Amino acid sequence: MSTSFQNIRGTFDILPDAYSDDGGTRIAPSAEWRHVETTVRDVMRRHNFEEIRTPILEPTELVARGVGESTDIVQKEMFAFERGDTQYVLRPEITAPVVRSFLQHHLAQRGGVQKLFYLGPCFRAEKPQKGRYRQFHQFGIEILGADEARADAETIAVLMAICEALGLSDLDLRLNTLGTPERRAEYVEALRGYLEPYSDELSETSQRRLERNPLRILDTKVEHEQKLLRDAPQLIEFVGEESLAHYDEVKGLLADLGIEYEEDPRLVRGLDYYTETTFELEHPGLGAQSALAGGGRYDRLAEVLGSDAPVPAVGFAAGMERLFLALDAAAVDRPESPTPDVFIAALGDEAEQWVFRTTQELRTAGLHVAHDLKGRSLKAQMKEANRQNAPYTMIIGGNELEAGAATVKEMESGAQEEVGFSELTEVLGRLVEAQKG
Ligand code: AMP
Repeated sequence: MSTSFQNIRGTFDILPDAYSDDGGTRIAPSAEWRHVETTVRDVMRRHNFEEIRTPILEPTELVARGVGESTDIVQKEMFAFERGDTQYVLRPEITAPVVRSFLQHHLAQRGGVQKLFYLGPCFRAEKPQKGRYRQFHQFGIEILGADEARADAETIAVLMAICEALGLSDLDLRLNTLGTPERRAEYVEALRGYLEPYSDELSETSQRRLERNPLRILDTKVEHEQKLLRDAPQLIEFVGEESLAHYDEVKGLLADLGIEYEEDPRLVRGLDYYTETTFELEHPGLGAQSALAGGGRYDRLAEVLGSDAPVPAVGFAAGMERLFLALDAAAVDRPESPTPDVFIAALGDEAEQWVFRTTQELRTAGLHVAHDLKGRSLKAQMKEANRQNAPYTMIIGGNELEAGAATVKEMESGAQEEVGFSELTEVLGRLVEAQKG
């Protein structure tokens, strides 16, 4: 069977089995996605975060302002379109939507600090490559209404706890402070002043950034530019005392929690409303797309989105696809796809009817039961039971119907047990429990 249709480049299907995409990257099966998602949710619950779900479609203006006009995302990566007089965008990230929702629904009125988490697809029109997709999945948190260093440290602690719960180690946490936007603006001018005389030597990208967003030049991978930057003014020289005290407190709290980090004065997020602490988590198994997650404070975002009062906030966003790459690189064990508890084969019309009805009853009682919908030969049914890896099988024919009892066979040992139909649910339930235990 075939079709002339294909999924769109940069997107992928998640199937019951693992497979390799065009670029040779392993796409994990749905059971592994569920495992990772369940682990994320569980760690979030333990850390007392509540889930928020926002629409995939948002007003383009929200993203333009919330992510920032000068960013690559807004300049060239938005899936945006118009219908009637509304401009829509497929969300490229989830922080701006969460802050919109927080403000729109007055969540501050619930009292205290709002600790929210999310998990869902995002869209960016980037050049697809290993670890970089056009539809990808992020999970993350936003702590809204707390300017304390403890909120920054807790943000990082949750991220590390998720990685640990998944069995990932060898992580590199890089940490920096951006200070206040006012001090940063002074630094941007100093950096621009320093780089301008060398403007002719800069790459085209960096020349553009020099005009729009000089901080981004600090991310350069061009060796010559990296050399130039060695003597450039440093952001940390411009960061004020209060910010440094906050940063010291964050570092102290991380040390208390036994979380290792490396300070990286060049780690910046080039947007005006990113403030104070900023961090990135990397894994060596990821190659070029090394960032597993990124985050930090964004104390000015709520005001950028129209809030009349500031909302101090901190959060992180992590990529599921990158997590899977790291888990694969580190060869971390993951659960297998679930198999049926029992496969019931039927011989003859009457038995088929009985099996169909009984199967539904057993399922209502909570068992995972497989049977053949097509009325095939016994041989074909047993082959199917084998393929589905059911630990127990039963064969129902005329004799069984007459006796009101059947044999349950444990496939691995070959052990058999005679069971009356009236106690079928109970006995199968007990066997399955014992096997799982
Ligand atoms: P960002 O919002 O750009 O800081 O991204 C946060 C995290 O999302 C990154 O660290 C990646 O793990 C993930 N991510 C961002 N863009 C993509 C993409 N195009 N494909 C896959 N993962 C991505």
